[in-house]
Amino acid sequence: MTDTKKNLVGLSRDELKAEMVIAGEKPFRAKQVWHWVYHQGETDFAKMTTLSKDAREKLAQNYVVARPQVAENLLSEDKSRKWLLRLDDGNEVEMVFIPEDDRGAVCVSSQVGCTLTCKFCNTGTQRLVRNLSCEEIVGQFMIARDTYGEWPTPTGERLLSNIVLMGMGEPLYNAEEVVKAMKIVMDGEGIALSKRRITLSTAGVVPEIIRCGEELGVNLAVSLHAANDALRNQIMPINKKYPLDQLMDACRNYPGANNARRITFEYVMLKDINDSLDDAKELVKLIEGLPCKFNLIPFNGWPGVAYECSSGNAMHRFSNYLNDAGYSAPIRVSRGRDIMAACGQLKSESERKRKAS
Ligand code: SAH
Repeated sequence: MTDTKKNLVGLSRDELKAEMVIAGEKPFRAKQVWHWVYHQGETDFAKMTTLSKDAREKLAQNYVVARPQVAENLLSEDKSRKWLLRLDDGNEVEMVFIPEDDRGAVCVSSQVGCTLTCKFCNTGTQRLVRNLSCEEIVGQFMIARDTYGEWPTPTGERLLSNIVLMGMGEPLYNAEEVVKAMKIVMDGEGIALSKRRITLSTAGVVPEIIRCGEELGVNLAVSLHAANDALRNQIMPINKKYPLDQLMDACRNYPGANNARRITFEYVMLKDINDSLDDAKELVKLIEGLPCKFNLIPFNGWPGVAYECSSGNAMHRFSNYLNDAGYSAPIRVSRGRDIMAACGQLKSESERKRKAS
């Protein structure tokens, strides 16, 4: 029955107003419903007590407040968590939570699968691709809040303090829905997450980078992974479309990319591929004059992949060189190894299991 009812999650404020009118309610009801859905996290219309009883019943007849279904929910021994989420059409995406001491980042997916086919990425091997809807993107973060009981939206400290758009998919190939979803998440009368606490990670969809800065003003992370076009073409095919000079231009022009809000360059450490001292030198030349920081990611292997993670020595040498050149370049601590937290791993495993049974 419920699947004939429209989900209110993912509607913009204007769309929600329009639905209230369709339902025969006054448009101002939208403000109240918004509060219940995004501030209180309420899913049951009957409990939305600021609405008249009549309005509650009417809404319940025509609408739902729903999230994607949680197919798996795995807690790592290091306290990171991974959810496998099942969408209405049966497709699956992953979401991860990476807690620090008193805060943490929820890593959200933007697509089912990914079209980029980066050679080191497991998601790139998964064929089926579609964009996630705004409803499904916002729904992910709401599931994280459900799991940790972080409703209503806390006024002070939060455990789920950040969103990183670093899950499956390329967010800037789904910019429309991602922008809409982040606007809902940033709305001060709902989930109320500040743009400073949102980071969008892109492989370098140059035309959309500026738009992301102008419309959202969130932090930008760029998956660089190589300091020259020859290597980057090889490991990230998107570089053939948007080569490094264009990508660097977009980064230099990113609104607010000053010292206060520096761009992060992600760099996956691949043994004997991109981890030499010469690579580090070339990298420093490439980003000259651009206020930025690095995030060195130890490569996370998966079955059938041709790469290995760099040695600890190589990673430290690389990190030290960047530090000496004046850049922050921590080596990311790998989390959730026991729950297959690397991009795309859990979904691939779930598909394998289904084929086997
Ligand atoms: N499409 C976006 C966001 C998703 S990937 C992007 O490319 O930025 C998030 C980050 O994980 C990217 O930097 C990606 O290159 C990296 N990544 C993918 N597979 C990895 C692996 N096996 N080990 C380490 N990092 C990986």
